[in-house]
Amino acid sequence: MDIIRKPLEIGRNDPCFCHSGERFKHCCGSSSANRKPPHGVIIVNDFASPEECNAILAIAATRGSERLKLIDNENSTSQKIVRKYDDTRVTERVDMSEHQDILDTLVTRAITDSIIPNLGSTIDWFEQPQLLKYEQGGFYNTHADSENYEQDKEGFIRVIDRDISLLLYLDEDYEGGEIQFTNFDFKLKPKPGMLIYFPSDSRYLHTALPVTKGTRHAIVSWLSEHGVEKMRPPPEDAVQLLCPNVGIL
Ligand SMILES: [Zn+2]
Repeated sequence: MDIIRKPLEIGRNDPCFCHSGERFKHCCGSSSANRKPPHGVIIVNDFASPEECNAILAIAATRGSERLKLIDNENSTSQKIVRKYDDTRVTERVDMSEHQDILDTLVTRAITDSIIPNLGSTIDWFEQPQLLKYEQGGFYNTHADSENYEQDKEGFIRVIDRDISLLLYLDEDYEGGEIQFTNFDFKLKPKPGMLIYFPSDSRYLHTALPVTKGTRHAIVSWLSEHGVEKMRPPPEDAVQLLCPNVGIL
């Protein structure tokens, strides 16, 4: 079922793609237990406070949810994105309704306080943040957020205007559920309040490993960077960043 191939064409003994001067196997591809995260994967511990995490979890506990769909590549056009169920992913999206602004505010803060200063990027928009719930057995197979693997082209093709992927974890009362970056052999057990962001392309293929016990919640969004050629107009639910003080659009 897992048809995705490694797109990062770099050997274990090659110089690392991050230009550190070290070999890939000793740098971003290291198998050492106390290795650093791969270049490009930024991890901010305790970005959200326990109070913020718990407030969102309390809302989630009273809300319904629906199983997520994936983008249907065959039936999507440059005008319209079509979505379908897919057995590579078992996740529920929590219905936040009138509480959606809590997620929007938190993601805006992540962008203005961490992502923009860190990356020096300008962000045109971010997709409406979603609160995802992975119950026991929930997972998301290896994928890239902005690219799909196309068999006939034997490569990854960009399909959506996503440049940076953002994850914000809320809880720890579960087992399994690690995030794994396939190309870098890097696996991380999320902690409550932890913010992670990384490029959305296929170098950063990632997997949400199955939750084996309990339930895991995470906020997700995807950012479109200024200056990157767009495939489509902003999605209808996109949240624009209009904040001249930090030099963004
Ligand atoms: Zn490296």
